[in-house]
Amino acid sequence: MNRVLLVNHENKPLRICSWKRALKLLLKGKAQCEKSIKSIEDYISINNTEIPKVIQLNYDVAVPYKELPFCRINVYVRDDYTCQYCGKKLPPSELTLDHVYPKSRFGPDIWENIVTCCKECNQYKADKTPKEAGMKLLRRPFRPKEYFEYEMKKYSYTEQMYWRRWMYKSA
Ligand SMILES: [Zn+2]
Repeated sequence: MNRVLLVNHENKPLRICSWKRALKLLLKGKAQCEKSIKSIEDYISINNTEIPKVIQLNYDVAVPYKELPFCRINVYVRDDYTCQYCGKKLPPSELTLDHVYPKSRFGPDIWENIVTCCKECNQYKADKTPKEAGMKLLRRPFRPKEYFEYEMKKYSYTEQMYWRRWMYKSA
């Protein structure tokens, strides 16, 4: 675990940065160790230097609004790698994307029309609508709002758990 969560003056997550960047911000006095961090487990140890896992910027920055990119992996993450028809959770290699309203009938490539699907269900559904194929969606596809949740999912489970616990604690 060598990544650091950078938060603004209101303890809202801004981004995840490398320990090198975190160290620079601390040395330049642009950021400080977040006050609630006390125990040794709250630090990353690199070359005998302790760097906190969460640092707070010393000046006011609003959390930037970022639109989550629409791409295959983000659709999988939204659907928790679960086929939205049969409910099987599978590795990415066994998944594909399904156009709820078929592509052959000009169903658009948008969050609201694309779901994670296993190859079997995708083949079975073919170019039909779920109703025509007699299939039911687990839930209606949607455009995700929380960018940071997705940003965190790129990192290890241990890191995510630490940051989530911390964010929950400071909420
Ligand atoms: Zn399926």
